[in-house]
Amino acid sequence: MITVRLIESNGYDAPRLLKLHASLAIISNVMNSPAFMDAIFDARFHFRRSFSRWIDKPYSNETVYAMLMRATEATGNTGSYTMELHLNLIDGSNGSVKGYGIPNSPEIYTYKARFDEMTTSEMANHIVHEWTHKLGFTHAEYPMPLGKRNMSVPYFTGNIVEILADTYFPLQKLNNYK
Ligand SMILES: [Zn+2]
Repeated sequence: MITVRLIESNGYDAPRLLKLHASLAIISNVMNSPAFMDAIFDARFHFRRSFSRWIDKPYSNETVYAMLMRATEATGNTGSYTMELHLNLIDGSNGSVKGYGIPNSPEIYTYKARFDEMTTSEMANHIVHEWTHKLGFTHAEYPMPLGKRNMSVPYFTGNIVEILADTYFPLQKLNNYK
C-alpha cells in the first residue's frame, strides 16, 4: 500500500487546492488497486539503452511494481511506501507541456494554464509521470518511436493511472472540476 503525502504545495489557491487533492485521491485509489498491479505486471516496458549504459535498468515488471509502491525517491524521502510530493503551480507555458520536474530535486512544477484545463485524472497522470522520475526512471525525449516512449515507466505508469481512474472511478471524471 502506498500513501500519497503532499509535503508542500506552492501557488495553489483554495479552489485549485481542492482540485489538486481530488487528483491525489485518484492516485491513491488507483495505485492501491489490484487493476493497477495487473497493469504494471502486464506492461511491456521499454528500457532505453543510451551511450552504452542503461538509463532505465532492465528491471522485471514485479520489480518495477515494487519500486513504485516502495516509493523511495532519490531526493527528499523521509519514509518508505509514501509518495512525497513537492508541488508548484507556476505561470508561463510551454506549448502543450503540462509541467516538468528538475533532476536531483523533489520539486514538480505545473503550468497554471494547463492545470486549469486538465481533468483530475489528467493531473494524476502528470503528477505520477513526474514523480516516477524521482525514483530514477526516465525515458527518451521526443522525437523517437512513440511506442517505445509510451512504454517507458514514466509514460506508461502515468497514462495507466489516468485510464484506470476514468474506468474504475468514473464519478471522479464526472466531477472533474474542469
Ligand atoms: Zn518525463
